[in-house]
Amino acid sequence: MAKRVYLFSEGSKDDRDLLGGKGANLCEMTALKLPVPFGFVITTPTCREYFENGNKLPTLLEQEYRVALDLVEKQMGTRFGDPENPLLFSVRSGAPISMPGMMNTILNLGINDEIAEGLSRKTGNPRFAYDCYRRFIQMFADVVLGADTHAMETVIEDYKERKAYETDVAMEAEDWQAVISTFKTMVKFPEDPFEQLRLAVEAVFQSWHTPRANVYREMNNIPDSLGTAVTVQSMVFGNFGEDSGSGVAFTRNPSTGERLFFGEVLFNAAGEDVVAGIRTPLPVDAMQERMPDAYKELLDSQALLESHYRDMQDIEFTVQEGRFYLLQTRSGKRTGRASVRIAVDMVREGMINEKEALLRVSPEHVQSFLHPMVDPDAERAVIASGLPASPGGATGVAVFSADEAVNVEADGNKVILIRRETTPEDIHGMRVAEGILTELGGMTSHAAVVARGMGVCAITGCGELRVSVHEGTATAADGTVIKRGDTVTLDGATGDVMLGDIPKVEASTSDDFQTLLSWADKHRRLKVRANAETPEDAAKARELGAEGIGLCRTEHMFFASDRIDHMRAMILSTDRKERKRHLAKLQEFQHADMLELYRVMDGLPVTIRLLDPPLHEFLPHDEDDANALAERLGKDPQEIHQARNDLAEVNPMLGFRGCRLSVVYPEITRMQVRAIIGAALQAREEGLNPFPEIMIPLVVNVREIRLISEVIDRGIAKVTKEKSVSLRYKIGTMMETPRACLGADRLASAVEFMSFGTNDLTQMTYGFSRDDAGRFIPQYLDAKIIEDDPFVSLDQRAVGRLMRMAVQESRQAKKGIKYGICGEHGGDPRSIRFCHDLGLDYVSCSPYRVPVARIAAAQARVLADIDN
Ligand code: PEP
Ligand code: MG
Repeated sequence: MAKRVYLFSEGSKDDRDLLGGKGANLCEMTALKLPVPFGFVITTPTCREYFENGNKLPTLLEQEYRVALDLVEKQMGTRFGDPENPLLFSVRSGAPISMPGMMNTILNLGINDEIAEGLSRKTGNPRFAYDCYRRFIQMFADVVLGADTHAMETVIEDYKERKAYETDVAMEAEDWQAVISTFKTMVKFPEDPFEQLRLAVEAVFQSWHTPRANVYREMNNIPDSLGTAVTVQSMVFGNFGEDSGSGVAFTRNPSTGERLFFGEVLFNAAGEDVVAGIRTPLPVDAMQERMPDAYKELLDSQALLESHYRDMQDIEFTVQEGRFYLLQTRSGKRTGRASVRIAVDMVREGMINEKEALLRVSPEHVQSFLHPMVDPDAERAVIASGLPASPGGATGVAVFSADEAVNVEADGNKVILIRRETTPEDIHGMRVAEGILTELGGMTSHAAVVARGMGVCAITGCGELRVSVHEGTATAADGTVIKRGDTVTLDGATGDVMLGDIPKVEASTSDDFQTLLSWADKHRRLKVRANAETPEDAAKARELGAEGIGLCRTEHMFFASDRIDHMRAMILSTDRKERKRHLAKLQEFQHADMLELYRVMDGLPVTIRLLDPPLHEFLPHDEDDANALAERLGKDPQEIHQARNDLAEVNPMLGFRGCRLSVVYPEITRMQVRAIIGAALQAREEGLNPFPEIMIPLVVNVREIRLISEVIDRGIAKVTKEKSVSLRYKIGTMMETPRACLGADRLASAVEFMSFGTNDLTQMTYGFSRDDAGRFIPQYLDAKIIEDDPFVSLDQRAVGRLMRMAVQESRQAKKGIKYGICGEHGGDPRSIRFCHDLGLDYVSCSPYRVPVARIAAAQARVLADIDN
């Protein structure tokens, strides 16, 4: 039978899984001979056993912890349940991964009338003894008995009011005794200390499944199966008198990262008073005068703990009658900025190396250097929550159409564009918006992809809001209405929507951040490219460290207001001549755009994808727009309606799109190739070094590639013949259909690179529409049918398996192919780790995600090296 109970002298910091973080660190501090009140830990497997037993403690458990308890008594020189010389315990939860404040704690356990009296006699401090007793009753009632503790607080408040006491400090022993007798009429708790202990252990186990703990685990990807340990520790008392106190401290500033010991203390108070913020604590240096020895011990201990753990520590301590005790140490939670500064400083101080520093920073922390964020400490009244599709915080005036966004912005306002969903036609409104909010759509919907690309905060799939564009309202489930013109704040990090202007924390880069990124570049193997099509986005991407463009969605170039009508006219052309004329115009635009991109990305690869969306996406969506277009083009409106009908598809995402367009309309591909290559040659003439990679989308069959490659090759031959300069270029394919992955060995022969389009690949592997899955994915997550949204974090099991097969089999068929990923997963840290392990050459993500990807790619390398 596995040992269920460990004394603090029996474990170490490496036993987190077994003893929980708190228990393992108490053991470690005991081994370091730091002043830790002695105790024992009941293991996490015991918690699992408890649940597996149908919520019953193992029969032998009590026997086991009584043995440990005897040894604790010997060490402390006091006895549990002995009124003459009482030992009281704190009983706390402690999971392998920290879940601060999520589970339950009971303090001062092992007390009853007789013991309280004994404690009062022994200490000569009746006020303290009865304060402990009443605290125990309140906590036990709350955690174990599930009683209404609010009513108990009211008893204290009413009592103080009757006596005209301002604070708890004014309460004397008799006062607490009076309160206790009232409490006893309200709750019934066991007098027997061992019964108290048993029930408390059980209550801590059960607190693993409180709703807040469940939600916290879900948010932080902590497995439900871990369970919590129970730490049973001898109590020491900060509320013993004026030479006592409790405090918390950080070895460095958790907000800025500055190397400055930082802490707070409350004199004559228990630890829970500090955490609960009942009174305002003083800075720790207030101890210097009142309890100089304890203060010195605190300073020495914090320095020792930080250098021992080689990380910033969050420490809890208590001073009882001038004697210093440590109750807890753990790696301190910190802001993004602090995490970067601490990691970089610690390398400079020789405490950790660069690789360790890289692992200390969460990729999400990087976001705080790139976007202003809604102040996490600011009050917020959330009216609805959606998917956190693009990070940052934004406040502006609510508008409900792209045109309105442009007009209201032109008057000098910041705007939040609210739509049911967005289409490429909304792009002009999205460009000027401070933030974008949609009722429908998932993490790879148009709104999400475009917003991320532009670095604009966005919340998508906010199904709790009913958006009426027509009425200019968005109505939340509780009836709150956002009306046109209202001020709204979006938190793109959490998906929260709020009325009014909520304060932000501004983004600004730092030298430390740049240093960390330079280490990331040194240690990563994966290259990082960006998905971008405008020169501005490309320039931003390069500034943020992109090593090329991994996906230029050429269709986005045709949605601009000066081009869209040419595109539409080309689609509506009834004869070849007319079509040619419009294609020539489009070629001019495309040429100019490509030239700009080559200029920005000089020397780096630019992957240009041939036209991908179904053509009807370019046509106007509503009648009025269709009529206006007819007028502009001098056509009969009927013709436009007819074309819209002809091109309409039942299932457009699986329809006439991608390379199927090139097969049917090779003239469009010819136009694109001439523009891509013509611009590259012009760039060469300017002395630049362009490197186009032409990418064919939505391929299912090698013959598609062959056919289209011929069109491309002929186009290239035609353009280059006229010039005498040479040009580097490549032809490759997107890997975004299951069939392409399953037949990758055959595709290999026809391509020089393969780029996984995991948005479509996920859509087709699951059969989940990427634009509509937002309607049921939350429920799938709740019901634990899936662990993550597969459009956010790559589904390694199935989609990943297709990718692995594709890489392995194509590599066997032909050497030298370059592999990349350009679906949205290319910016997701967990997916990046997978891509590293798979041996891809690069990931491509939206420009503002590039620094995150650089860090994540370095972490992937470091972690993979550790695993191997
Ligand atoms: C993809 O499908 O993953 C992809 C990158 O292409 P798009 O998102 O444009 O369909
Ligand atoms: Mg695609």
